[in-house]
Amino acid sequence: MKASFERTSWFPIMLRLEGARVLVAGGGNVAANKVQLLVPTGALVDILAPTLSPELERLVADGKARLIREEASVKTLTSLLPGCRMVYLATSNRALNAELSALCQSMNIPVCAVDDPEVSSFITPAMTTRGAVQIAVSTGGAAPVLARRLRAKIEEIMPAGLHRLAAFMQHSRTALRTQVPDSALRRRIWEHFLDGTGGPLAMSGDTQAAQQELERIVREDQRRTGEVWLVGAGPGDPDLLTLAALRLMQDADSVLYDNLVGPDILNFVRRDAERVFVGKQTNNHTLPQDGINAELIRRAKEGERVLRLKGGDPFIFGRGGEEIEALVDAGIPFRIIPGISAANGCAAYAGIPLTHRDCAQACLFITGHARADGTLNLAWETIALRSQTIVIYMGLTLIHQLCARLVEHGLPADWPAAVVERGTLPQQRVFSGTLSTLPQQVTDNKVSSPALVIVGEVVRHRVISSPL
Ligand code: SAH
Repeated sequence: MKASFERTSWFPIMLRLEGARVLVAGGGNVAANKVQLLVPTGALVDILAPTLSPELERLVADGKARLIREEASVKTLTSLLPGCRMVYLATSNRALNAELSALCQSMNIPVCAVDDPEVSSFITPAMTTRGAVQIAVSTGGAAPVLARRLRAKIEEIMPAGLHRLAAFMQHSRTALRTQVPDSALRRRIWEHFLDGTGGPLAMSGDTQAAQQELERIVREDQRRTGEVWLVGAGPGDPDLLTLAALRLMQDADSVLYDNLVGPDILNFVRRDAERVFVGKQTNNHTLPQDGINAELIRRAKEGERVLRLKGGDPFIFGRGGEEIEALVDAGIPFRIIPGISAANGCAAYAGIPLTHRDCAQACLFITGHARADGTLNLAWETIALRSQTIVIYMGLTLIHQLCARLVEHGLPADWPAAVVERGTLPQQRVFSGTLSTLPQQVTDNKVSSPALVIVGEVVRHRVISSPL
C-alpha cells in the first residue's frame, strides 16, 4: 500500500481573472480554444494576430475579445505586456513562442506556450465546470490526452445538479457563518448535510427542503458533544490498519498521535484534520500523560471528534486504560478500536509463531521498562518457564539485565531468543540467538527502538517466507 509519487513542479491554483487583461498571441483554432475558456471568467482578452479564424472573428464581433491586428513579435509584445495578468502563446511558430515566453518570464508575467510545457511558466489543465464547481486535471504536461480522459471519467460521475448544490451552499454560507461562529463545527454541519439528504435535495432544486434539512442539522449538531476515539494503528505497516481505524481516521477533526505512529499511517488521516504530536518516548514525553488526558477532554468538550491514535493496540502497554478512565470521569463519550499489537505484527512478519503445539502452550506479554530506580520488578518465577513464549515490550535498554535474570531464574543460557527491530516496516531487522548471545547481538548490530524481544523455543521454529 506504499504510495510512491513522482515529484511535480506544478502547483494548482484558481486564478481570479475578472477584469484582468489577458493576451493571446495567435489567431488560429488553438488560440480560439483558449479564448473560449477565458471569456466566461470576465477576463479582458486581447488577441494579437494579423488574421483570425472565423470563430475568433465572431468572438471579436460580439465584443467578447479585442483584436490587435499585428504580427506577434518581441517588439509588439514588449509594448503590450505591461498591465497583462497572463499570456497565452498560440502562434504556429514554436521557436517564436519560446522566444516570446522568455520575454514574458523576464517580466514575471505567467505565460503558457500552448503544447510546449517545457518553455511555459504555467499550463492549462483539462477542466470541467458545473456552476461554481470546477475540476481541473493535470498531468504536468506529460500526457494531456490522459488528463482529458480522466476529466471525462470524472465528468461522468459528477451528479447533474452539482451546480445547484454549490449555489445553495454558497448562498447559505454567510448566514451560517454568523449563526455558527466555530469553523470546525460549521465544517461538520456541512459534512452531515452532504452525507444525508441535503445534497440530493439541493441538487434537485428543492431549495426550501434543503434549507429545512440544513436548519435541522444545525440544531442537532449544536447540541452534540464531542467524543474521543481511542484507536490502535498497528505496529507500522499501514496494511495492518483495521477498517474501523481507517474510517475514523477519515472522519476525525483532530488526531493526537504517538511517535510509534509513522508518516505512512498518518497519510491516511483526513487531510485537513489537525495533527497533534504528543510524543511518548521512554524518557522524552512531549506531553505528559496528564496533559494528554486534559487535551483529549478539552477538545471533546469543544465538540471535536478526537482521534487518539496509538501504535499497536491501545490496551497493550499503551496507557489506553488511563486515558479512558479520565474520559469516563469527565463524562466524555468514547469508542475503543483495537489494533494489531507489536507482538502479533512482529511475530507474523518475522515468521516466528507465538505458540506452538510442541513447545509453547502459553504466551506472555511483559514490559521490560525499568521502574524509576532503574530496576526491573517482575515475577520472574512465573516468567522464566520453558513451556511458554515470552514477548518483551520496551526491553531493549535493559536487554542485558533481562536475559541475565531469565537465566538466573532457570532458563538455560542457550535458550532461543530473538529481537525484531521496526517490525512490519520495510526496514525490519530480525536477529535470533540465545539468552547469552542476544545482548551482544543487539549491541553489535546497533539495534534501536522500537524493538521487540521474543524468548522461547518458538524462535527455533522460525520460518522465512519466500518473497512474493
Ligand atoms: N501499544 C503498543 C505497545 C507500546 S509500548 C502495541 O500494542 O504494540 C512500545 C513498545 O512496543 C516498543 O518499545 C517496542 O518494544 C514495541 N513495538 C511497538 N512497535 C514495534 C515495532 N514496529 N517493532 C518492534 N517493536 C515494536
